[in-house]
Amino acid sequence: MATRQCYQHDDRAMMAYCAGCARPCCPNCVLEIRGDYYCERCRDQLAADVHQSRVLPEATRAVIMAAIAVLFGLKWIGLLLGPYAISRAWKAQQILTDAHWLRGRWHVRAAYVLGGFATAIGAVTLMQS
Ligand SMILES: [Zn+2]
Ligand SMILES: [Zn+2]
Repeated sequence: MATRQCYQHDDRAMMAYCAGCARPCCPNCVLEIRGDYYCERCRDQLAADVHQSRVLPEATRAVIMAAIAVLFGLKWIGLLLGPYAISRAWKAQQILTDAHWLRGRWHVRAAYVLGGFATAIGAVTLMQS
């Protein structure tokens, strides 16, 4: 069975179906957004839809994680949760670099600061014990 052709290019084999409209797209037409593939039109639509100041959920989770790390960040809990929150913030930052229409940059910054703070609390309280 022959592979399906790209919806825009008859001479190219498809690489993935668009997650929005299910049309087959070749590597030239497809755009990967957070693990899903989209055709150009759906990508623009997606950008328009989320343009209403939507905050990236990963950024919110990172800042919540960082806040928990500060609240319960004594000794090894801070040393575990602090860096974990920072790694979550870093991941959110990577997504925001690609998805420029999403908000959450201040969340990421806050998560970095709080995560670093929790790590410091953990280190200091551990040394004092
Ligand atoms: Zn599409
Ligand atoms: Zn194509």
